[in-house]
Amino acid sequence: MKVYADNAATTYLSRTARDKFIECLDEFNGNPNSLHSDGQRTQEELDRARAIVAECINAAKPNEIYFTSGGSEADNQALISAARGLKAKGKKHLVTLNIEHHAILHTMAKLEKEGFEVTFLAPESNGIVDVKKVEDAIREDTALVSIMFANNEMGAIQPIPEIGKICKEKGVLFHTDAVQAAGHLPIDVQAMNIDMLSMSGHKFHGPKGVGVLYARNGIRLVNVIEGGAQERGKRAGTVNVPAIAAMAAALKEATDNMDANMSRVRALRDRLIDGLKDIPYSQLNGDPVKRLPGNVNWSFEGVEGESLLLHLDMYGIECSSGSACTSESLDPSHVLTGMGVPVEAAHGSLRFSLDIENDEEQVDYIIEKVHDVVARYRAMSPYWEDLENGTREHCVPEYWSK
Ligand SMILES: *Cc1c(COP(=O)(O)O)cnc(C)c1O
Repeated sequence: MKVYADNAATTYLSRTARDKFIECLDEFNGNPNSLHSDGQRTQEELDRARAIVAECINAAKPNEIYFTSGGSEADNQALISAARGLKAKGKKHLVTLNIEHHAILHTMAKLEKEGFEVTFLAPESNGIVDVKKVEDAIREDTALVSIMFANNEMGAIQPIPEIGKICKEKGVLFHTDAVQAAGHLPIDVQAMNIDMLSMSGHKFHGPKGVGVLYARNGIRLVNVIEGGAQERGKRAGTVNVPAIAAMAAALKEATDNMDANMSRVRALRDRLIDGLKDIPYSQLNGDPVKRLPGNVNWSFEGVEGESLLLHLDMYGIECSSGSACTSESLDPSHVLTGMGVPVEAAHGSLRFSLDIENDEEQVDYIIEKVHDVVARYRAMSPYWEDLENGTREHCVPEYWSK
């Protein structure tokens, strides 16, 4: 059986998005900046896409939507714009979480080198930040709070409306990396008091290499790509109309079907969680309820996440491991350690991210094979043998459910 359970890394292109992409390649191949008819027809298609995206997140105006090359670029532009824009007013302080995506963390590190001061807040042990800590971190000279909507590794959903309210009251800009939330959770930028928001097409069944920065009117964006006057002068480069239109179609499809999709995927997630609970010395990471509909992140004592992942791959199950083998380092995930998961548990973690194309049969297959590979690795491990014959103590015993 083949089971794709790595939707947080990327999703497949939906049929709707694919059809839109092909239609644009054939029908809207002009340069939207050209004044002739071909260009203008393409411009109209781009306008339609902008209006669709604006509507899906309840932006007040389509011109608050800027198309980028993806979530990373949107994150970079949001932070750099807020920081540089407010520096002149003497604001040099930024607030974020230590469990953010590297597109945020590395941009923050760059701004620190430019003289900004950054507070990296740690979430509670369930992966969710305490709103009071956000409030307390805001100072007179705070330019921006950037807190992700939902975490890509362990799925915890942050209290975005509460944080938005605090930022509004204190007159501080609020950006959220909503790459994992867009198309999966309801987003209303006005009701949630979000000033800037990042999205990425390929995380909701659109194409890769295309994303969105929402910036409320009145916010001065700083270019990260200089050149022509596309995107109202804020993002140079001939616009990728097929990818943008396909992304908008995917977002609309996901938004229109959100309630049904959420309850379906949540049921699959909870079935998987239930099925893994009886594995001794293992633990679900992240809040069990306030988490992305499809996310299951689980740690197992005495095994390496990478070994489990590669073994599951041989059974046709595609997932990801919590240790950062993806970032080509052997460090455990900064997200898991950042929320206080012990290093030993972070090393032995797996992430399954389910979506609408998964079904119960696939989930049951994952449950069966995870039991199988965990038992197999433990049986081969001298570490586990020592535990069994009592010559060694369990590491971090308080962390595991037994
Ligand atoms: C995937 C992801 C990004 C990066 O988006 P790209 O479009 O791949 O650049 C940023 N933030 C989060 C939370 C993500 O999951």
